[in-house]
Amino acid sequence: MSTSNKSAPVLIVGAGPTGLATGIALRARGVEAIILEADSRDRNRSGTRAIYIHGSTLHRLEQMYPGVGQKIAQKGLIWPTRRTLWHGNEIFSRTYSDPGGAGDLPHFTSLPQSMTESILREAFNHQGGTIHWSSEVEHVEQQQDGVRVQTVDGDVWRTEYLVGADGAGSTVRNGINANFQGEASENSFIVIDVEETPEDPREVERVFHYSHPGVGGRNVLIIPFTGGWRVDIQCNQSDDPAKFETEEIASEMVATVLGERYRSRISWISQYTFKQVTADSFVDAHQRILLAGEAAHLFAPFGARGMNSGIADADGAASAITVAITAETASIAEAEIKRYGTRRKKAAEYNKYAAGKALEHLQSNRLTTKIKKTAAAKLARCWEGAGEWLDDAPYGPRKNPDATQFY
Ligand SMILES: Cc1cc2nc3c(=O)[nH]c(=O)nc-3n(C[C@H](O)[C@H](O)[C@H](O)COP(=O)(O)OP(=O)(O)OC[C@H]3O[C@@H](n4cnc5c(N)ncnc54)[C@H](O)[C@@H]3O)c2cc1C
Repeated sequence: MSTSNKSAPVLIVGAGPTGLATGIALRARGVEAIILEADSRDRNRSGTRAIYIHGSTLHRLEQMYPGVGQKIAQKGLIWPTRRTLWHGNEIFSRTYSDPGGAGDLPHFTSLPQSMTESILREAFNHQGGTIHWSSEVEHVEQQQDGVRVQTVDGDVWRTEYLVGADGAGSTVRNGINANFQGEASENSFIVIDVEETPEDPREVERVFHYSHPGVGGRNVLIIPFTGGWRVDIQCNQSDDPAKFETEEIASEMVATVLGERYRSRISWISQYTFKQVTADSFVDAHQRILLAGEAAHLFAPFGARGMNSGIADADGAASAITVAITAETASIAEAEIKRYGTRRKKAAEYNKYAAGKALEHLQSNRLTTKIKKTAAAKLARCWEGAGEWLDDAPYGPRKNPDATQFY
């Protein structure tokens, strides 16, 4: 194995949405950043994952690099209708006449994560950014005046600042001795991606079923995205999730909840228990290494806080590094990086709380939660507010009292 020594003002580990957004935000501020990515250039990112992109994220991306938010919005899909059913009976439905939002960006859009990543990659390339593919980081070492990074293939990099955007199993997080703290969802969830039937498409609506009678009374969330449908099925605690992951059973469930014509159109099946964790520190002891995205936090996806908050981290990290790199004194630089760690950890704690509220609503066996949901379902027949509460609750609270920390 040959070793080569390289350097860059800023290094980013990971070319997922967080790493790419960090690279774009840094270059937009005139700071040269290079991305090291473990996977090869021709990798296949499986599953649709982060389909729901909040309007605030579209605005943030548009500010980072004009045209990016617009492009994602143009490619994405907006459902005009949201609907909720209770044991097979509709209890809430609302159709919007326009996509809402502010300016010319919608309130949200729905697009497979791989397509968002490809738009971000294209923007980063346009800025002159470089991704070193097949460059897995093995070791990071914090030093007083920078960071030393070693890759599996023997390259040694030196950099002033390093952003760890290397996802849930982050090598960078381990390198700074930060640890995840939190818990996991009690139930497993089966997530199935299904391709649209262009000759006979379904009506574009987001539907939540409390106790779908066709799948043994399990909760089911159906979300449209550009080119298909995502079906999330909440297993009972006594279920063996591996059984539901099989093609045969998944096809049966898809045929029941979406329609017979979708039976053989499954493109991806996966099973999750969702972690609800944040790193105990988002920066290293020397204020040279910053964690962002899933390297720093994991949330259950209800409320779509994962990638959306990863992109907010990216913006915050780029801003802090830009100030630090040009700061006249070391103490100003250190304070700026520390501030990043404090602010983004606070945001992550709120996101964990909000996603936790959604999980509690979905999976809690507490009598009070059950009574509240059943009472709301009965009331919904005569009061729309009760139905709307049941329609909203699976995504957790939306409003953070401290608006600057949202996502
Ligand atoms: C079923 C599901 C649904 C979801 N839905 C939503 C949603 O609707 N909205 C939302 O906002 N979020 C959603 N999420 C979460 C979202 O997918 C993640 O938050 C997002 O992928 C995190 O991006 P990231 O860039 O931080 O990490 P990742 O996407 O994991 O990217 C990390 C990158 O780092 C690379 N890497 C890892 N280790 C190394 C190393 N040692 N050296 C170099 N490179 C390395 C990896 O190959 C990868 O490219 C969902 C997740 C799931 C599972």
